[in-house]
Amino acid sequence: MEGTAPRRPATPTEPVEPVGPLPPMFPGGNRIGAAEEAAILDVLRRKRLFRYYGVAPGPSVVDRFEARFAATIGVCHALAVNSGTAALATAMAALGVGPGDQVIVPAYTWISTAAAAVVLGAVPVIAEVEESLTIDVADAERQITPRTKVIVPVHMRGAPCNMAALTAMAERHGIAVLEDVAQAVGGSYRGRRLGSIGRIGIFSLQFNKIITCGEGGVVVTDDDRLHARALLFHDVAASQRTHLEGVAPFVALTCRLSELQGAVADAQLDRLDGIIADCRRNRSIILEEVGTSLDERGIALRRCHDEAGDTAIAIVLLCPDPATARSLANTCQTLDLPAKLLFDPDVPDFHVAYHWGPILDRVSWTPRGPWSDPDADVEYGPDRWRRSIDILGRAVHLDVSPDLSPDLAARYGRALRACVERLP
Ligand SMILES: *Cc1c(COP(=O)(O)O)cnc(C)c1O
Repeated sequence: MEGTAPRRPATPTEPVEPVGPLPPMFPGGNRIGAAEEAAILDVLRRKRLFRYYGVAPGPSVVDRFEARFAATIGVCHALAVNSGTAALATAMAALGVGPGDQVIVPAYTWISTAAAAVVLGAVPVIAEVEESLTIDVADAERQITPRTKVIVPVHMRGAPCNMAALTAMAERHGIAVLEDVAQAVGGSYRGRRLGSIGRIGIFSLQFNKIITCGEGGVVVTDDDRLHARALLFHDVAASQRTHLEGVAPFVALTCRLSELQGAVADAQLDRLDGIIADCRRNRSIILEEVGTSLDERGIALRRCHDEAGDTAIAIVLLCPDPATARSLANTCQTLDLPAKLLFDPDVPDFHVAYHWGPILDRVSWTPRGPWSDPDADVEYGPDRWRRSIDILGRAVHLDVSPDLSPDLAARYGRALRACVERLP
């Protein structure tokens, strides 16, 4: 039977075959099928492309998606929007972020986390990440000033931040926690789904994420008032559509999700638990094959704040130095393994603060952007994230597709083991 063949560890002399083509790393995207097709056709046939009305009366699939998403995450409210970036801006607006405020973000996250603060007129402050590749709580605490309004822990590459330490620290200082779960939908921390721990949380449904509708995002919270404010911000006419008890209307944007996207998102939600279960199975098979070879070469898995809550979409290996990481990533690639370095000073990548040109140069669309405030005293020098660069610069990232068969996962693991054993 597949997957139960006895392990045959490769020795440094034994040739190892390339594993061959692997499934594309678009977990939800690669599983799009009959359910998504039927859901889209239903929206078209009902001529109901807008969530608030259609040609004929009938249910909104975005409403349905929001209710089911909230239940999945374990929160009272979910609001669908048209991107993860819009979800960040909406969540920050709900928390009242604006000119004069500072928002603490980690040095390793997609640039949107910082950009959303700038869009609202606030200044992003960049904190280090630690060996889990998520925000270093002690360093974040050192960045707090009287202007700090929000801190954004980002659950990078599927795994949770140190939420116990972070929540306690934020509470001590009276700062709101906004969880960015764009890369970790379905993950958890100490039994609670990510996104349900902070005051508010956001998700992305862009094509690269665990589940997808091409473009989309979600804002979740247990707080009725925050939900009402998010609703107001995401729809310029929200106050005409609904009376929001106790929440004064304000001027806002429109970043609503369409029913076509909502239909796909709703179908994808049914796939979430299966995708994560398959990633977890495959990651275990791979690591089982890799065995103790990592220890022998001084390579460690990144730290994890809750193994059971990791979505298992990735394996991140921390090497002793950047040269070893580069050598390992190169060897892996010759065997078709989906390995890459997480930081290269010469390869622009908006996931690392080092490469956030427009933010480091303090450029928004107007010279009167948030940094023009003489009190917006913030430090973006390379010393600010020296430790993050040290860690990311020796990190090799490997995708773990849910669509590897157990047999392919075992071959992947054996090939990875061989790459580690052959390091010079
Ligand atoms: C993708 C991503 C976003 C932004 O989502 P979009 O839907 O692309 O706007 C925000 N934060 C993180 C950590 C992301 O990975």
